[in-house]
Amino acid sequence: SDRPYIVGNWKMHGTRAMLSEARAIDRAAQRYMKAEVAVAPPYTLIHAVHREAEQIGVGAQDCHPGADGPHTGDISAAMLADAGAKFVILGHSERRGDHRETNKLINEKIESALEAGLRIILCCGESLETRDAGEAEAFVLKQLKASLPKIDDAAERLTVAYEPIWAIGTGRTATTKDIAAMHKAIRGLLDETYGEEASAQVRILYGGSVNPENAREILSTEEVGGALVGGASLSAESFLGIVVAAS
Ligand code: 13P
Repeated sequence: SDRPYIVGNWKMHGTRAMLSEARAIDRAAQRYMKAEVAVAPPYTLIHAVHREAEQIGVGAQDCHPGADGPHTGDISAAMLADAGAKFVILGHSERRGDHRETNKLINEKIESALEAGLRIILCCGESLETRDAGEAEAFVLKQLKASLPKIDDAAERLTVAYEPIWAIGTGRTATTKDIAAMHKAIRGLLDETYGEEASAQVRILYGGSVNPENAREILSTEEVGGALVGGASLSAESFLGIVVAAS
């Protein structure tokens, strides 16, 4: 799709009181059809947001790689689909950090989620240390090479999100020059992996301190197909400010 994709990642925020924000986002999204809008609430709210949503997509923030089994506390991709999720965010740096997720595990989760019929938002991004060492591009491409799905037609249901770790929740965004360069490198890898025609279907989102003020500039950067938004997605007002900037 050529429409910019604006996705709110609520992270570990939100009780049922947040359903009114979801409703407001959904109603407004109906007026800004030039953007594709989605939210990923915590597991506990997926089904409720799904029931509220007429326009926006609803997704999850993680899943287990297995189909079912003795994994106390875990949630499978099929369960997410059953609850109304249409996509799942995988490989977020917070999961890589908090739960020591490896590229291999992320690859297994992706393939399992595709099998369950979900779309994927695969996150990648380097630390400040890696960027300062001049190794950001090599690091991100290595993450992606090791986690991209090898399944036929995977590109149709894949989105990649570039989220430099040092830009997440810090108020500091990457420069549009750095974003364009990284997205171009990612596009090159997607072309190589899936062929140019299939690769063209994969949107590359930017994430990291996107807000209503900086969204327009970021979203008009070359190869930026949308935004993955954390903090600013928690209120309908600020999230919709980003949706409007994309429309
Ligand atoms: P912030 O928008 O809060 O920086 O979070 C970005 C992010 O991690 C989205 O997945």
